[in-house]
Amino acid sequence: MFDKILIANRGEIALRILRAAKELGIATVAVHSTADADAMHVRLADESVCIGPPAARDSYLNIPALIAACEITGADAIHPGYGFLSENARFAEVLEHHHIAFIGPKAEHIRIMGDKIEAKRTAKRLGIPCVPGSEGGISDVDEAKRVAKEIGYPVIIKAAAGGGGRGMKVARSETDLVHAFQTARTEAKAAFGDDAVYIEKFLEKPRHIEVQVLGDGKGGAIHLGERDCSLQRRHQKVWEEGPSPALNVEMRERIGSIVAKAMQELQYAGAGTIEFLYEDGEFYFIEMNTRIQVEHPVTEMITGIDLVNEQIRVAAGHPLSVKQEDIKIEGHAIECRVNAEHPSTFRPSPGTISYFHPPGGLGVRVDSAAYQGYRIPPHYDSLVGKLIVHGRTRNECLMRLRRALDEFVVDGVDTTLPLFRTLVRNPDIQNGQYDIHWLENFLKTGGLEEA
Ligand code: ADP
Repeated sequence: MFDKILIANRGEIALRILRAAKELGIATVAVHSTADADAMHVRLADESVCIGPPAARDSYLNIPALIAACEITGADAIHPGYGFLSENARFAEVLEHHHIAFIGPKAEHIRIMGDKIEAKRTAKRLGIPCVPGSEGGISDVDEAKRVAKEIGYPVIIKAAAGGGGRGMKVARSETDLVHAFQTARTEAKAAFGDDAVYIEKFLEKPRHIEVQVLGDGKGGAIHLGERDCSLQRRHQKVWEEGPSPALNVEMRERIGSIVAKAMQELQYAGAGTIEFLYEDGEFYFIEMNTRIQVEHPVTEMITGIDLVNEQIRVAAGHPLSVKQEDIKIEGHAIECRVNAEHPSTFRPSPGTISYFHPPGGLGVRVDSAAYQGYRIPPHYDSLVGKLIVHGRTRNECLMRLRRALDEFVVDGVDTTLPLFRTLVRNPDIQNGQYDIHWLENFLKTGGLEEA
């Protein structure tokens, strides 16, 4: 096992990794920018190293500074968390070169899944159902027209290097397509420095359902059920739950075993998520995230498996601690991402948290690096904390979430807590009847003001 892990991240996920490392008896090193000198992850780690000024590109994305920090502290592994360098294949390779273990999958798999065209091609080869669309990248508008005609309108044009919901354009007719195609390419070039795009059938009312996997890197892989992340704003997840209200045991087993088999064939290592759109009983692969995800606690709450612990074990060359038959989905869990944003305009609200009181009690988990007096720096994301609630049934979970949200106090900055208090009381949400457009429509039609 590792002696010392350096955590190349900040905020709640840095704390999450610290906790897993400590429980394994592994020493921890926090790194931080000058803006994060007072951050909780710095206080809780055994050691800390300042790696640069506030801008992420000079600190949390600064590979030479991270390697130097490993050398100074004698850390033998790096956990990248999510975001920052977590899906940077070159980073994984550089670490290997320096004999520092990367707590994540093989560089090759990060690279394949980071290119959405390549990812889709691989998924298809591994027997994972995909959205109908172009076989590869499309570079001229006539080819785009031909493919769109073949699969039928509406279609969506997506950037190969895409992420964060950017660079996607929907076309409902050939006239639309000509314009959308050019715009998507220009936007992809500007956002990702790569104008490669591809075309997919646009699904009108899908749900976003993703399957959590763990692989040992040697051909062993298991699935841990799904999370439903259909409640999104601007393609950003807001509320995640598991199991999905739309699936039954057979459907879960069907998609889970397809995915686990694919990951066995790939010899995937560590934690990963296969994301699907789900419509009319069919799953359509959209992408794979080769890292721990923000919403991973939902799965931890319903399976009792510590996913970060498993990531560390696998990276250290150990087998997974569980087999497929050990995985039992118990009860229901919901996660709310509480951001420092205005609850209806979503304007970021950096500032100082003057009062902080997280909820507690049975089945309530708060993953947060916030504390009373903490100043939220303007340089990074606006996540204040994740509230994750577990219940024996979805109904119990919703009632518990309702009371936990009412207990949660964050003063001094705007937060999205009021949005969640409204959502948890909404009949569509209570019935589990929502697709990926539900939240945008709700916000557009003034759902928040009416409540
Ligand atoms: P990104 O990597 O930018 O997040 P994804 O491919 O994961 O891009 O898609 C993000 C979101 O965009 C999905 O959760 C869904 O809401 C929407 N989306 C993507 N592809 C389609 C599609 N073919 N039809 C309808 N909506 C889509």
